[in-house]
Amino acid sequence: MFQGSDAEEVAAMVNSLRRHLQRRERAGIRVTARGNMKGTSSATTRDENLLSGTEGDLFSDASTAFQSGSLAELRAAIGDCQLCKLCAGRTHIVFGVGNPQAKLMFVGEGPGRDEDLQGEPFVGRAGQLLTDIITKGMGMKREDVYIANVIKCRPPENRNPEPDEVAACEPFLKKQIDLIRPQIIVALGKFAVQTLLQSKVPISKLRGNWHSYHGIKLMPTFHPAYLLRNPADKKLVWEDIKKVLSEMRGENA
Ligand code: SF4
Repeated sequence: MFQGSDAEEVAAMVNSLRRHLQRRERAGIRVTARGNMKGTSSATTRDENLLSGTEGDLFSDASTAFQSGSLAELRAAIGDCQLCKLCAGRTHIVFGVGNPQAKLMFVGEGPGRDEDLQGEPFVGRAGQLLTDIITKGMGMKREDVYIANVIKCRPPENRNPEPDEVAACEPFLKKQIDLIRPQIIVALGKFAVQTLLQSKVPISKLRGNWHSYHGIKLMPTFHPAYLLRNPADKKLVWEDIKKVLSEMRGENA
């Protein structure tokens, strides 16, 4: 039997879980047992490989969003998402932009003010720097790659996303990655890198080395906003980007 503060703690957890499930239900996300879905698509089968053992795996065959066969379907399924408290302060959900078949995907933290207003990731000053890296540095077009964030709605005052917000939103990113199937992910900045790699290791130690995100090669590097404050580190990012270019050209085969 629970007594005193134990009982209050359990009651608070139950209420929190109930509110979480109610938000998911309002967003059209229902959890069902795995393996019971009829008409399981090949995309869903791929999810099971890519997302095995994650929360995304739990939802990959259990909701409208995670049955999506295209980015457009996924965006439509996310709709006016209210799965976490960030929905209250956003102007737009910033889903992602670029080539749905991109070989290269950039993943940042979350929308800032400009991105929230325009509904597109990396459109402010930091976004211009990322665009320069892609176009002037890599010789590609911004439309050739895909750009998204871990979190789709702007946190107030650009604070770091909180664990419950990441837990609610990261499955959407996982589904995006599974639909795009990029050859390489470049993770931008400490938050995206540590979230995707589930690591507390400082980005200064992770950057410049290849890692794996569910079997996809992942290169951590500094966030363009950091580079605006620390331009001397642009040369380190360029070293990382050169490794990405070599990998894309098959020079490391
Ligand atoms: S941050 Fe993600 S989970 Fe939270 S409301 Fe926005 S889209 Fe939904």
